[in-house]
Amino acid sequence: MILPILLYKNKILRNKNKNIKIKSNLNNIINNMFDTMYYYKGIGLSAPQIGKNINLFIISINNKKLIFINSKIKSYSKKKIISNEGCLSIPNIYVNIKRKKLINVEYYDNKWKKHKKIFNNYLSIIFQHEYDHIRGKLIIDYLKKN
Ligand SMILES: [Zn+2]
Repeated sequence: MILPILLYKNKILRNKNKNIKIKSNLNNIINNMFDTMYYYKGIGLSAPQIGKNINLFIISINNKKLIFINSKIKSYSKKKIISNEGCLSIPNIYVNIKRKKLINVEYYDNKWKKHKKIFNNYLSIIFQHEYDHIRGKLIIDYLKKN
């Protein structure tokens, strides 16, 4: 089911997002998020963008569906990388953002298997964008700093 995506002025995007209780059934919401993300031609979508203040986001990379639950960035490289990013919640705006090149992350997948991974470059950038959503942060917030 395709859901409406909240736009940047909506305060729900700025709320705190709670970790999800282990073993919760998220199949419905995850399926709807993928339907919504593909419909709007996004490469990532976070739960707050569809009005759910929980620590969940999805990414599509190389036709692979990646699901991230209760994500946490544990550490990251000093080295940075500049990316030009858009966001489904902020149509037609693109912002250059300095991201960490490499991140060390922990998360659960949709089968509640825990992963500890190192991501770099493209996946690292998208992960950081979605992780920002979980922390109530949007790409326009970087305009002041950069
Ligand atoms: Zn976004």
